[in-house]
Formats: sequence, structure tokens, C-alpha cells
Amino acid sequence: MREVLALSVFCYDSSCATRLYTSCSSLPARHGLLHDVSESRFLIDLHSHSTVSDGTLTPAELVRHAAAQGVRLLALTDHDDVAGLDEARRSADEHGMHLIPGVEISVTWKRRTLHIVGLRIDPTYPPLVEGLARIRAGRHIRAQGMAASLQAAGVEGSLEGAYRHAKGIISRTHFARYLVEAGYASDTRKVFKRFLVKGKPGYYEHHWADLDEALGWITESGGVAVLAHPGRYDLGRTNMLLLLEEFRALGGSAIEVVTGSHTPDQFQEFGKLARQFSLKASLGSDYHGPGHTYIEMGRLPDLPHGCVPVWQDWPELEKLTVPADAPSPLSPST
Ligand code: AMP
Ligand code: MN
Ligand code: MN
Ligand code: MN
Repeated sequence: MREVLALSVFCYDSSCATRLYTSCSSLPARHGLLHDVSESRFLIDLHSHSTVSDGTLTPAELVRHAAAQGVRLLALTDHDDVAGLDEARRSADEHGMHLIPGVEISVTWKRRTLHIVGLRIDPTYPPLVEGLARIRAGRHIRAQGMAASLQAAGVEGSLEGAYRHAKGIISRTHFARYLVEAGYASDTRKVFKRFLVKGKPGYYEHHWADLDEALGWITESGGVAVLAHPGRYDLGRTNMLLLLEEFRALGGSAIEVVTGSHTPDQFQEFGKLARQFSLKASLGSDYHGPGHTYIEMGRLPDLPHGCVPVWQDWPELEKLTVPADAPSPLSPST
């Protein structure tokens, strides 16, 4: 094993980002490439889900899959739960990968749901543990409301059906899987067009954590707070600017600029906003398992030019080692 210590604080060329995104199945994804000496490559993925929330791989399977895709620094960020982190860390140790303890917290801001990713959190920090337990308890109540709404639209058995798919928390994803199983749609993405969203059967308004609470739990536990996939909130320009102002004032550190659900235009748009608000930039696939993802792990493009990576000063990077004969992560995924 050979130690690679050098870090780059620079982001990468934006035209390259776009080119790699549009051709991501065949071209090398060089994101998270911190330092490239004689073909040593580091791939970073700071947003992923296991069966503890709504992913389809167990934490150990997820880590194994990430390793096979060439990822060296992985954050497990299950929705509102940290129960997968121990198993993921053990698996990461076996694969010579570094695991970042993370979480994705559901927040209500101006009656809209936002997701805040916490990275490098202390998962034992009591206010975080208690806050997440409270959110999970709320999920059970919400699930009953969702099932009642579906029932009123003629969909029977959704509460039991959704819970059958849930190995950890209960979420809309599990309802979506039940609706596919029951023949209401051919895949979960189609479910979210006809069900489970505002104005459709199965929608149930719910109050999650407040933004200041979630940011407090993350930052006081020693973690950094990242606004997840900002392109998915449909806030409008004015509210997005207000949100970024408030997020930063409350201790938020970064925006997820490159993520599976953003378009190449959104990489640029949110890269620019990150710079404008002096926020760092994060990068993660939001992987939920094979066939349940926007993009394969290890296939995201680089951060746009001029962004400061959220991992810029992380000590974990100094500990990463690569075997001199490591297989290249660049071969097409299987
Ligand atoms: P919940 O936290 O229970 O509201 O569930 C949110 C989850 O549903 C997200 O994390 C996604 O995994 C999934 N989801 C939301 N919208 C969609 C969509 N349009 N297509 C597929 N999955 C979605
Ligand atoms: Mn999810
Ligand atoms: Mn999310
Ligand atoms: Mn996510």
C-alpha cells in the first residue's frame, strides 16, 4: 500500500463536468480526484442510502458495491437514522475504504420539505439521537395518514404493504414499492406522478424537524451540514436565496452541487450559488440501490470550476491509501 498525502483544494473545469456527465456511462468519472499520481484515483461519494432507510442494499452490501465502483471515500446518509453506520464502517475497513458517518435529515421550512445531509457527524451525540428518534416516530403517524388517504382513493392494504417493504424507517419509497407491486404503476418514479405528492392520493402533510434544530444537531455533534439536492425543491429564486441566507446564518456549510438528480445546468447554477454565498460544494450520487438510482456510484462528474469542495480540509483524506496495483475504477460498471 502506498500513502498518498497530497490534497488538492481546487475544483475542476466546468466544461469537463458537462462532458463527463453527458457521457458518463463510457468515460471515466474523475470527480473527487484529489491527486493523480501514476493513475492513483480517489472517487468520492457523499450521499447514499441503505436498507436502514429506503435503499435496497444493506449497509455492508452498499459499501461493497461502492468499493467495486472505485469509490474510496463514501458517506452513508440514511434518512433520519444512523443505525447502519457501524455495519458500514466494518465493511469499509474490510475494503480499505474510508466511511464518513452521515445522515439525511428531513426538515420543514416554510411548509416545504427540505433534506439536510450531515457529514462527519457524531452518531452518538444525544440531541441528534433523540431528534432523529422523534422524526422516526413521526414517520409512523404520517404513514397511517398516507394509508388512509390511499384507502379513500380505493387503494387497499397499503399500510401493511409498505411496512412489508421497510427494513428500517417507513417512507414514501416503501409505499411506492407497494403500489408497484399492487399494479398501480410500472415503476416507482411513475408512482410519484400519480400518488404520494401534494394534491394526489397518499399525500399527507407532515411537519418534520425545523431547520435550526437539524443544523444544531449536526454542527454541535461536530459535523458539517449540507443542503441536499437544492434543485429538487421548486422554491423559486427569491425563496432559494432566502433559504441559502438562513442556512448559512444557522451554521450550514455546503450545498450539494453535483448530485444524481441535478442536470448539468443545475451543476453550474448551484456551483455559482455556492460561490456567491461562500458555501462549500458537495458531491454525491444519492444512490438507493441497483435499478433504484439516478446514476451509478462512481460516475458523477467533477465539481464545477471555482467551487470549494466540502472535503477540502478533511483529515480523512490524508489517511486514504491506494494499492499500487489497484484496479482502475474506470472500467464500465457491471
Ligand atoms: P419520504 O422521506 O418518506 O418523504 O420519502 C422521500 C423519498 O422518496 C426520497 O428520498 C426518494 O428516495 C423517494 N422519492 C421522492 N420523489 C421521488 C420520485 N419522483 N421518484 C422516485 N423516488 C422519489
Ligand atoms: Mn430516499
Ligand atoms: Mn433527499
Ligand atoms: Mn438521499
